[in-house]
Amino acid sequence: MAERYSNRRTRALNKQEFTDSLCLRYNLPLSNLPSYCACGEMFTVNHALSCKKGGFIAQRHDTIRDLLTTHISKVCRNVETEPLLQPLDNEVFNLQSTVTSREARLDKKAGSFWTPGVTAFFDVRVTHVNSLSNQGEHTARIFKEQENEKRKYKQRVMDVEMGTFTPLVSGTDECMGLDCHNFLKTLANKLSSKYTPLATLFPGYEYNSHLLY
Ligand SMILES: [Zn+2]
Repeated sequence: MAERYSNRRTRALNKQEFTDSLCLRYNLPLSNLPSYCACGEMFTVNHALSCKKGGFIAQRHDTIRDLLTTHISKVCRNVETEPLLQPLDNEVFNLQSTVTSREARLDKKAGSFWTPGVTAFFDVRVTHVNSLSNQGEHTARIFKEQENEKRKYKQRVMDVEMGTFTPLVSGTDECMGLDCHNFLKTLANKLSSKYTPLATLFPGYEYNSHLLY
């Protein structure tokens, strides 16, 4: 790993980020953390990854959404962040939990990602797999449950938008769900065939993708 850091061509993290990542991976304490969170609790790594008030839940979601959007834009047209879904009239959906609100939006859409002429919709979720609520659960099962929960958008996208829907579920431990894995593999292949070798674009992809599967 030290070699990865010292190699400027493949380095993806700055010095502080790299040191913090090593500490997180080996469960070592981080330096320079504040004592308390904005919510009043003690500020620990576990708390920062779970707290909706002073934590980094929205930040980690938006960072991944924007990074993926940047790369999709290189290989697809009509890419849009947070697209509003078309309003419903009297459509009926088999899945009762289907989202039907007028304000429903997903994280991004891209023309012809999976199939030529068909718009692909995506929704990102990053989960802290070591949170108290996930204690005792196998990581693959956590991802599968969250992928299933996102299916509440699927039929609306298929029936009304005539598009495809893919939930992009990943974890703070650098693992990911099966759909996200397939998506990244396809995206990396598209980028690789258009530009340069895959490892240049996603320095950590090959390194990380074996962790779950
Ligand atoms: Zn907090």
